Amino acid sequence: MPITAKANLATDSHGGRAKCLQRLVRLDLPVPHSVALSFDAVHAIANGVMPDIAGIVGQFTSGALLCVRPSSADPDWGGPGAVLNVGMNDAQHVRLSNTLGHDAATALYSRFVQAYGIHVARLDPDIFDDFSGTDEDTLRDILAAYEAEADERFPQDIETQLTGVLRSMARAWDGTSARLLRAARGAPPDAGLGLVVQQMISGFGQGECGSGVFQLVNTSTGAAQITGRYLSQSQGREALGAGAGALYLERDERGRSLEDAAPGAFAALKAHAALMRQKLREEMQIEFVIADGKVHILDGVRVPRSAHAAVRIAVRLASDDIITPQEAVMRVEPNMLTELLHRQVDPEAERDVLGTGIAASPGAATGRIVFSAIEAQASAARREPCVLVRRETSPEDVRGMHASVAVLTERGGMTSHAAVIGRGMGLPCIVGASSLRFDTRAGQIIAADGRVLKAGDIITIDGSSGEILAGSPSMLEPAQDDAFQRLMAWADAERDIGIRANADTPEDAQTARNFNAQGIGLCRTEHMFFDPARLIVMREMIFAETSSGRASVLERLLPMQRDDFTQLFRIMEGQPVCIRLFDPPLHEFLPTTRDGQLQLAEALDIPISAVTRRVDQMREHNPMLGLRGVRLGVTVPEIYDMQARAIFEATIEASRDGAPVVPEIMIPLVSAKREVELVKSRIDAVATAVRSERGQDFDYRLGVMVETPRAALRAQDIAAHAAFLSFGTNDLTQMTYGLSRDDAGRFMSAYVQQGVFPEDPFHVMDQDGVGELLKLGASRGRAAKPGITLSICGEHGGNPESIAFCREAGFDYVSCSPFRVPVARLAAAQLAI
Ligand code: PEP
Ligand code: MG
Repeated sequence: MPITAKANLATDSHGGRAKCLQRLVRLDLPVPHSVALSFDAVHAIANGVMPDIAGIVGQFTSGALLCVRPSSADPDWGGPGAVLNVGMNDAQHVRLSNTLGHDAATALYSRFVQAYGIHVARLDPDIFDDFSGTDEDTLRDILAAYEAEADERFPQDIETQLTGVLRSMARAWDGTSARLLRAARGAPPDAGLGLVVQQMISGFGQGECGSGVFQLVNTSTGAAQITGRYLSQSQGREALGAGAGALYLERDERGRSLEDAAPGAFAALKAHAALMRQKLREEMQIEFVIADGKVHILDGVRVPRSAHAAVRIAVRLASDDIITPQEAVMRVEPNMLTELLHRQVDPEAERDVLGTGIAASPGAATGRIVFSAIEAQASAARREPCVLVRRETSPEDVRGMHASVAVLTERGGMTSHAAVIGRGMGLPCIVGASSLRFDTRAGQIIAADGRVLKAGDIITIDGSSGEILAGSPSMLEPAQDDAFQRLMAWADAERDIGIRANADTPEDAQTARNFNAQGIGLCRTEHMFFDPARLIVMREMIFAETSSGRASVLERLLPMQRDDFTQLFRIMEGQPVCIRLFDPPLHEFLPTTRDGQLQLAEALDIPISAVTRRVDQMREHNPMLGLRGVRLGVTVPEIYDMQARAIFEATIEASRDGAPVVPEIMIPLVSAKREVELVKSRIDAVATAVRSERGQDFDYRLGVMVETPRAALRAQDIAAHAAFLSFGTNDLTQMTYGLSRDDAGRFMSAYVQQGVFPEDPFHVMDQDGVGELLKLGASRGRAAKPGITLSICGEHGGNPESIAFCREAGFDYVSCSPFRVPVARLAAAQLAI
């Protein structure tokens, strides 16, 4: 069907390209005549039922060349490439030689024969390998190669050519690899392909002729900026690939531009693009041809964009009242946000640029220059941030990279070792900094302006811009970009499920605050005991023979824990902080090597045999299902007593100079209500004791982690004693499947490959099984105590699909790692819109 303003085209019957071209036609933009073939028509073509080809050809100007472009519902699903110049033959070659010039006509014909030979006649591409050039002899050789291989004359008739092209494109869509590719990108199995046949406008010829792409925003930053390329005497997307001869669009200091070459065409393009932005309500990239100074729009596609640009574009469209804030929220893919969550140099800060290189890994960091991995590790041990400067990096440098805040190399490109590892680690990185002179042996770098930098000097690596800066300009913390903040504020206005963070340290808590988490949903306290000064006390406690002996050792940990909690409460400024009581099996704190055991014997002044005996005693066959979590709380209650006291004393401390704190205390690995009763009565007793000792009142909330199947099944009993239930889906997945979370990796890929599990259930929550337990636990808990708070705190908590599940099940909040918080906030908002 011809694409006219009135035609009845929809994305789900003719594909996005056809629909978009129709919109452009409706806007009265100069689109060459086009005909759209529907999904059904293309499906029929793939099965050998051809439409009326003569009828299609008859809709175009007689003697015109045509092109055929794919049009699926979503351009990300891939599909066959466009085929240009259908209709090219000996007669056209002669005709175009007179109008476009002999070379241009010969080049067009040669390229078409090759494209047709490879994609339609399915000839071996190698047969054309030896031919380059645009002369008549080469064309003759190419035609001869075609004829020899295909055993037929190159078809001269446009109807035959168009039939072949349509059939090959339709069949390519049905091929196995195309199906697999688009399935991986989320296409449904019955995704259709439409095709658009369009009259070619020649980018060759008299006057200003050429082709290019044009857009109103910068693809990587999202800034409003005319971007694109134009190449005179060209066709297709050649302008983009061609460095030589391609012009920038807008007049600036970089050299001659399209604005200089064809000011009228430039102005027309600008006006067309602005109209498209307004009416299509999106930033569009225009593919255009200029023929004798006149602009033609061949195609419009959504501007491809980085994560940063996606946020800025959505926010600016909403700020310009082109879309609503809700639509802006819907337009950013939540997982994309992870790319934005790095520190940046404050755009307002003075930049003292020493040199530039390739911006290989985003984010910015400041540190002292070190020239070797060993120096980097020494610097990290002194807690001095350092920038590792190398000619290039190799695997031996990885430990040094871990110890550095940023990396700078003289050599390399986007896929060099430093670039790949830096991006993987989220470490700001600049490679190929050839504007600096590196003399690593003499321990110096010489800046472009002659300044000499030595080991120990402070520099800043801006891995987003590729600039190496002197000193330490002020930085913006990741969450402080203006567009990002606006988008998140719009998201929060829509969201109807809470988002907290899992945070174990003050640094984590600060990150959580920066990302506007609504509290801490899980603080795993055991991480606080691995500090060397505390580890030895823990070990002493493990070796204590009596309850009072244990309690007196724990007294020494009490002030340290109190400080930990006071800091967390202060950082969170009155927001809820949920502290989980000690969870892991105690043997994790004992040394496993003979050397370590010897050192412990010395430290505790006991014979090594006593150490090895205790280690042997504590060994468990399956420690993750052994003496851990609440089982320790019941059998070695002094640890929980100490932690409860530390929490309450910190509550009083932090409430004194800040917002009142109501701590949440969470009991791990519960499977029976009696466990909760026992722990609760001891914690209540500690609370009473602290209240009377300090003469201060405080509140607290005691809750239970539901992470064993029995806790979910008996949630009604457990809820009676709990203010909240938090589902720990890591352990719950482990126990529901009977599958060790530490050993599952050995066979997980085989299981996923063979379709036993659709995904790794430790990554993507198993809604059918584990999810069923969540729903059951939630409804039984709520039935027993209607106001009980429900949440999830396993690693699944930050995944958009688990958030959807929890929201559906009526949960109050999800808790996830601090860097996932923005992703979760956006995903939750999208569910509510
Ligand atoms: C869980 O089991 O889901 C959980 C959050 O606890 P951890 O990962 O510490 O066992
Ligand atoms: Mg757990």
